[in-house]
Amino acid sequence: MSDLHFELALLPGGWARDVRVEVSGGGDFGEIRPGGTPEGTRRVAGAVVPGIPNVHSHAFQRAMAGLTESGGTAEYGFGSWRERMYAFLARLSPDDVQVVASQLYAEMLRHGYTAVAEFHYLRNDPAGRSYAVPHEMALRLHEAAMAAGIGLTLLPALYRVADFGADAPLEEQRRFVVTVDEIVADSAALRGAMAGNGNRRVGLALHSLRAVPPGDLADAFAALEAADAAAPIHIHVAEQVTEVRACLSWSGAAPVEWLLDHAPVDGRWCAVHATHMTGEETRALAASGAVAGLCPTTEANLGDGVFPLASYQVAGGNWGVGSDSHVSVSPVADLRMLEYSQRLTMHERNVAGGRKTHSTGRALLEGAWAGGAQASGRRLGAIRPGFRADLVVLDTDHPALAGKDEDQLLDAWIFSGEDTPVRDVMVGGAWVVQDGRHRGEEEIASAYRAVARKLAAAL
Ligand SMILES: [Zn+2]
Repeated sequence: MSDLHFELALLPGGWARDVRVEVSGGGDFGEIRPGGTPEGTRRVAGAVVPGIPNVHSHAFQRAMAGLTESGGTAEYGFGSWRERMYAFLARLSPDDVQVVASQLYAEMLRHGYTAVAEFHYLRNDPAGRSYAVPHEMALRLHEAAMAAGIGLTLLPALYRVADFGADAPLEEQRRFVVTVDEIVADSAALRGAMAGNGNRRVGLALHSLRAVPPGDLADAFAALEAADAAAPIHIHVAEQVTEVRACLSWSGAAPVEWLLDHAPVDGRWCAVHATHMTGEETRALAASGAVAGLCPTTEANLGDGVFPLASYQVAGGNWGVGSDSHVSVSPVADLRMLEYSQRLTMHERNVAGGRKTHSTGRALLEGAWAGGAQASGRRLGAIRPGFRADLVVLDTDHPALAGKDEDQLLDAWIFSGEDTPVRDVMVGGAWVVQDGRHRGEEEIASAYRAVARKLAAAL
């Protein structure tokens, strides 16, 4: 592939002009030279920034977005949302999931997500049996990511029981239930199927402390360490007040406190949500080096609560952003919600920037790049030699960006308007979005419409 020449790019050391960038045949950044000449390169106008890793996705839920918003007491709580989800997924086939995920991933790319960590717990057939190929659903997610062209960290999820202290799952959870041995076998098969693909990584998800008893948690962690000691490990934790109360009555400890006391949490871990923490838990999670996987639009949609971003950042905590249930598929929506939820509760402005001297938009994106890369277990989130060639080109001629420069471009991207200024997107050295259009947009959307209509009609 020929070298690229960026008019303006955000490098690890800051903004630079006339940047000559090598991309290897394997899809990584090679040499990067600010002030380089454009001869023999493909020139890229606009502002180039690293692609954003999405730390948390349940792909199938994209087709549910918008179907759980009617009023009345039956729709009030997270419990009722979960009931709706169980009814919905009783019908989902592997073909359906692949079509839904392809559409989702293409949408993510158009908005600037270039990689996704897929927290995959829809493993079994509707009767609760393994498919003939047990990791069939995971392979379909991999296929969808290939079709869309997005990077993927696949996290097969361990799911054992219905609640804290329970010894069995509910009937409606049969599509999720899997043993540690099965997860280990699935993961090994997936590592084999994706070997040599520079856009892939396999890790492990523990569904939650509610769904994974302590013994299974320890066994799964030991198996992961034996297979890939550096692999990412994700867990839903402290999302809801009811979960915190249940954990307290089960163990005497709140979920984050319990997790930090009983699991070797470090930089490999992503604590998804971690919404409800005491000041002590907030400091301890930050000190562990784990990433907090924040999903602000989903957390708002489900009425979860507001993450204590200011105190977590003061404690030096890492965080990334994810679209989770996909009520939004744009990093802009989640980063904006993250900042605005802080402003609304703290009665202050520009919270995410903290004591940094640069802009809030840049501070939000730097959090998402660094934490997203860490939680993906891949070299992402920076235009830097040896990192994956994942990038987003902002159209500096877009009305929202006109007259802005450098960090102001990022602030305008996050905080002004709905129309995305993302013009081009590259993943692993391949252009997947050009002039605002995804390369397979029409074909993918047409298949999706048919599946979405079928699923909505069946509810
Ligand atoms: Zn989730």
